[in-house]
Amino acid sequence: MCCVYNSKNYIVSQLPYIDQIIKEDMKVGRIYNFSAGPAMLPVEVLKEAADEMLDYRGTGMSVMEMSHRSKAYETIIQDAEKDLRELMNIPDNYKVLFLQGGASQQFAMIPMNLMKNKVADYIITGQWAKKAYQEAKIYGTANAIASSADKTFSYIPDCSDLPISENADYVYICENNTIYGTKYKTLPNTKGKTLVADVSSCFLSEPVDVTKYGVIYGGVQKNIGPAGVVIVIIRKDLITEDTLPQTPTMLKYKIHDDDNSLYNTPPAYGIYICGKVFKWIKNMGGLEAMKAHNERKAKLLYDFLDQSNMFKGTVEKKDRSLMNVPFVTGDEELDAKFVKEAKAAGFVNLKGHRSVGGMRASIYNAMPLEGVEKLVEFMRKFEEANTK
Ligand SMILES: *Cc1c(COP(=O)(O)O)cnc(C)c1O
Repeated sequence: MCCVYNSKNYIVSQLPYIDQIIKEDMKVGRIYNFSAGPAMLPVEVLKEAADEMLDYRGTGMSVMEMSHRSKAYETIIQDAEKDLRELMNIPDNYKVLFLQGGASQQFAMIPMNLMKNKVADYIITGQWAKKAYQEAKIYGTANAIASSADKTFSYIPDCSDLPISENADYVYICENNTIYGTKYKTLPNTKGKTLVADVSSCFLSEPVDVTKYGVIYGGVQKNIGPAGVVIVIIRKDLITEDTLPQTPTMLKYKIHDDDNSLYNTPPAYGIYICGKVFKWIKNMGGLEAMKAHNERKAKLLYDFLDQSNMFKGTVEKKDRSLMNVPFVTGDEELDAKFVKEAKAAGFVNLKGHRSVGGMRASIYNAMPLEGVEKLVEFMRKFEEANTK
């Protein structure tokens, strides 16, 4: 956790602004929602959507009631793409697709479209990676070339020199492991093979170098918008007619590419909300500013965990996620008591995933610094009150 105070000056000057905006926003009867997803969205965005609910900018209708072929909607989806491209600095040789079926749909869509040799390598760092791997096995040879299952996925394996298959069509990772709270700090050495990454739970949380990936995709309900929408950023040469036999039309990237995500009715309202979140992030200073904001929140919580005699982080320090922070007391009854009392105090959805137990605080972009400050204060008091 280094970069907050020595990153570019404008980022640092942006932080009080972000704090102020989000803090003001919270004064409308909101609670601190630490859910892993669907998760908190910026209040500004929700308010704007509410204002436009009955009459979207003089059209006399809600975006929900609008033809996806209308002029008004065309502007919405085109602006959304433009803003996302700007935020992530997406080069022209990448296509942005807004699709349906959530992140899980991509577990099948990726092998169906990319497995030309019917071989792919998977790095298993948690349940979502494992699910993708199991799905790929339906369509070809999926190799698990590394795994952190031996220690309950509490770390990211060394990926500097993996046994990448010679004829692998791609190497697959889940970049931020929502359930276990780990994140790749360096991308795997794929030895020239195409990298495919599920970024559902770290989407737009910090800058990325898109050119390092063949495909970046994520369900939006963690950090960007309403569930159901999945955004796929894919290098154009990977979009071909040459899919596995019997690939359903709706699962071909080419179809959606040809029609710019309007082959059929897209998840139109969801995309509209995503577009507002893109604008919100731009206003906040972009992804560098989001990174600084997220690092500051995560540091507060991890620093507290590291000095606590009661609460312990469950992840190897070098692999800690900025977005999902799992922790335990080591005593299941005490964990349950904590979750219950935290809920009563206005900190909700802190219960850990059923496969890990304990607690997990998800602190995505829209979580204010104040939410984490107050949570840490609550944890400190809980520790005092429950230490003999
Ligand atoms: C939530 C999540 C998923 C599943 O998303 P759906 O939209 O429910 O299919 C997949 N991968 C990761 C990393 C997630 O966090």
